[in-house]
Amino acid sequence: MAHAKSRTQAEELISIEERWGAHNYHPLDVVVEHASGAWVYDVDGRKYLDCLSAYSAVNQGHCHPRIIQALKEQAERVTLTSRAFRNDQLPRFVSELARACGMEMVLPMNTGAEAVETAIKASRRWGYTRKGIPLGQAEIIVCENNFHGRTTTITGFSSEPLYKDGFGPFTPGFVTIPFGDAETLERALTASTCAFLFEPIQCEAGILIPPDGFLRDAAAICRRERVLLVADEIQTGLGRTGHLLACHAENVQPDVLILGKALSGGTYPVSAVVSSREVLDVFRPGSHGSTYGGNPLACAVARAALRVLEEERLAERSQELGAWLLYELRKLHHPHINEIRGRGLLIGIELLGPARPYCERLKDLGVLCKETHDHVIRLAPPLIIEQEDLAWLVGQLRTAFEN
Ligand SMILES: *Cc1c(COP(=O)(O)O)cnc(C)c1O
Repeated sequence: MAHAKSRTQAEELISIEERWGAHNYHPLDVVVEHASGAWVYDVDGRKYLDCLSAYSAVNQGHCHPRIIQALKEQAERVTLTSRAFRNDQLPRFVSELARACGMEMVLPMNTGAEAVETAIKASRRWGYTRKGIPLGQAEIIVCENNFHGRTTTITGFSSEPLYKDGFGPFTPGFVTIPFGDAETLERALTASTCAFLFEPIQCEAGILIPPDGFLRDAAAICRRERVLLVADEIQTGLGRTGHLLACHAENVQPDVLILGKALSGGTYPVSAVVSSREVLDVFRPGSHGSTYGGNPLACAVARAALRVLEEERLAERSQELGAWLLYELRKLHHPHINEIRGRGLLIGIELLGPARPYCERLKDLGVLCKETHDHVIRLAPPLIIEQEDLAWLVGQLRTAFEN
């Protein structure tokens, strides 16, 4: 504001953040103070519908009472033992998660990127010890436009200059193919390939959905050639796309499943690699670890988050509400809208120009969403959202696209 009016609390906080915090993000200027369910409230008392859900970490909704209860109760018991000792929550968490995913073993970590790194290590060691790949030769196939996190190894096999410029040298051993093309995958495989690492839907790349049959074909090729199918479901998993896992849409069960984000319902960093005994048994004491990985607080929170997903049938809810929302959105006609696509409550509105101005306009209309890959508006509200809130969202979008 150019007026003499004193700065709002939000403006004050933003200027402090800009001065003292590193500028590795370009957030919308809304300063959230508290949140509940699908709604967040800023320091100046304004209310917004959250249509990002912290990149699908908050599938269960903000501050879900059962998850917060578990967090509080465990916080008062014991929070960290390190894996030097055992704790009573870890065995419950790993068995419950493995069963929910139809798998045999779990290796808990903290952030998504760490779980991806863990899956890379597991795949390589499996390649050497089980497949007989010559030591130091293992190759992992990845897809163009992938997003798997921000470590140096992971950004090294990204195709996005923004993620990697100036951060090299990078880790060798990765081969990039186009996303969604099973024939190229087949041709890219060599005797040294240990794994194919992919996202079933590329979210950060702009909600890119592969052609029907790709997941099934890729799974069949990998099985035949003895290559591990490693699905990064950190963002697509746990109900977001209308299934427990996005791979389930084509009845594909990955060999290695990477989870994070909604595994804790947005309350605490919890990630995991979920796989078979054959794969995860490559780790022996001392070969991998994390001080906080599998800590009792994380395990208690994740157990509650999983229970909420199941008991509130959030995958089914996502499928039903997502289908309704997609149908309603497709009635929006505007010369700037190129395509609207989605699975469950993961929807992308692809524009012909930049999406940021629309996200800014939507913010002023009480809707929080974030552009992805410049020209796509991602809509991914918490899965607990009410249909009437989605109807209100459709109205706000109609207003945003009015001129
Ligand atoms: C968010 C995300 C990651 C990285 O998770 P962090 O917790 O931010 O490290 C990896 N893969 C996918 C698909 C993601 O969406």
